[in-house]
Amino acid sequence: MTEPRAGRYPRIPATRDRPHVAVIGSGFGGLFATKALRRDDLDVTLIGRTTHHLFQPLLYQVATGILSQGEIAPSTREVLSRQGNATVLLGEVTAVDMHARTVTSTLRGHTERTEYDYLIVAAGAGQSYFGNDHFATFAPGMKSIDDALELRGRIFGAFEMAEVVADEAERERQLTFVVVGAGPTGVEMAGQIAELSRRTLRRDFRRVNPGDARVILVDAVDRVLPQFGHRLSGAAREHLETMGVDVRLNSRVVDIDEHGVELETADGARTRIPCACKIWAAGVSGNPLGATLARQSGAELDRAGRVKVLPDLSLPGHPEVFVVGDLASLNNLPGVAQVAIQEAKHAARLIRDDAASATGTPSEQRPPFVYRDRGSMATISRFSAVASRGRIRLSGFSAWLAWLVVHLFYIIGFKRQLTTLVRWAVSFLGRGRAERTITRQQIAGRLALEQLGQDFPPPPGVPGGGAREADPPTEG
Ligand SMILES: Cc1cc2nc3c(=O)[nH]c(=O)nc-3n(C[C@H](O)[C@H](O)[C@H](O)COP(=O)(O)OP(=O)(O)OC[C@H]3O[C@@H](n4cnc5c(N)ncnc54)[C@H](O)[C@@H]3O)c2cc1C
Repeated sequence: MTEPRAGRYPRIPATRDRPHVAVIGSGFGGLFATKALRRDDLDVTLIGRTTHHLFQPLLYQVATGILSQGEIAPSTREVLSRQGNATVLLGEVTAVDMHARTVTSTLRGHTERTEYDYLIVAAGAGQSYFGNDHFATFAPGMKSIDDALELRGRIFGAFEMAEVVADEAERERQLTFVVVGAGPTGVEMAGQIAELSRRTLRRDFRRVNPGDARVILVDAVDRVLPQFGHRLSGAAREHLETMGVDVRLNSRVVDIDEHGVELETADGARTRIPCACKIWAAGVSGNPLGATLARQSGAELDRAGRVKVLPDLSLPGHPEVFVVGDLASLNNLPGVAQVAIQEAKHAARLIRDDAASATGTPSEQRPPFVYRDRGSMATISRFSAVASRGRIRLSGFSAWLAWLVVHLFYIIGFKRQLTTLVRWAVSFLGRGRAERTITRQQIAGRLALEQLGQDFPPPPGVPGGGAREADPPTEG
């Protein structure tokens, strides 16, 4: 066990008579790792840059007005309030020193250094624009609550704009929605915008017919939801088209600006689509902390910037450091919640075994991580989804029911499960959406903050710590 070191940073008051585990990130990996250690004779400090745990699979429902952000983002502190050995620390991790075994985090100019005996890094992944970062200005991704609220503002705002503009071409542009990426998030977003326009908003406007909205789903590959296999992929495409979604495959986005999107097909032909609202649901890149860890341990990064971990999820030469979830690269496992949860539990189990061993040091013979595939699912619209598990393939209502039960199960807290169920009843059985509020801050906040720059100090009394995924951490 390490001794407390002198330094110029304030220090977490660790009880140094037992192992201290630092966990980075309050997503699926970080939260489940912390919870898995709840009965162990050790201390855990979870350092996260947001005050909440985010249930990312339902972000699209916040963006399209079905759920409020509170339903999918419980306070991490509240979730862990009964776990006596866990401390929650708000802050952006800016450096990890694997030699000194310290994690440095900052919160509004306050720097904190946390010593650890074990470290679990679950910092997730950010959006990748495949080298075209300027697309982000016009086509927000969907990784955070801020992103989902911005998209909600842009989606509902486009219908409002269409109602007031006089020019026919501009009205059509406002009523054209382009979703880039035909994976689960893109399909869910396209399906929900189609449903919103054809059903929810049907009677709410006087000068425009929201049902005239064009929803275009674009992808460079030749199938929607390719990971679900040919049959489900075909069923999903058919259902989207029945709902009026224009699915354009084998089409690469080559440009995005304020006014529209430019596509290029495999034969080199280019098409420009005038549209006001664009949504980026394609591509992920590992959190920049991955590069810091790779540099210090000699681990490699894969093409998406994820850290190639050893079979037990630790890093070369550092059996005390684990990387789990979307930031870890192992056996081509997908970036999904189940992988993050199971990896987090595996890392916690190995730490428990080490701590309980006679020497209290990492065992040489650690079991490798083995993923148990619990299946995948994606919704297309109300009452319609696709799901696969092993050889079982479901589509339509049965898959949607399975989706509903599984997602309800993973929402944290009984009260939140109950309110979610009520909101789903409102939206799926009825026509309404309970969360249609949009504000100027939602729409303009991100770009305004980017213009103000990294050094913009929030006013006194306002805690920071909500930096965006793409912020590069500095090396300590
Ligand atoms: C829109 C969307 C839909 C999805 N749908 C599904 C789905 O239907 N089914 C499914 O299985 N999976 C889905 N996923 C994927 C799933 O959400 C991820 O695989 C899972 O969240 C990964 O967990 P994680 O802990 O690795 O990362 P995350 O959950 O992303 O958590 C990362 C955490 O690290 C924190 N963090 C990052 N950098 C720092 C830093 N420098 N300092 C401090 N904290 C930091 C973040 O704030 C966050 O709390 C979806 C993802 C998205 C974005």
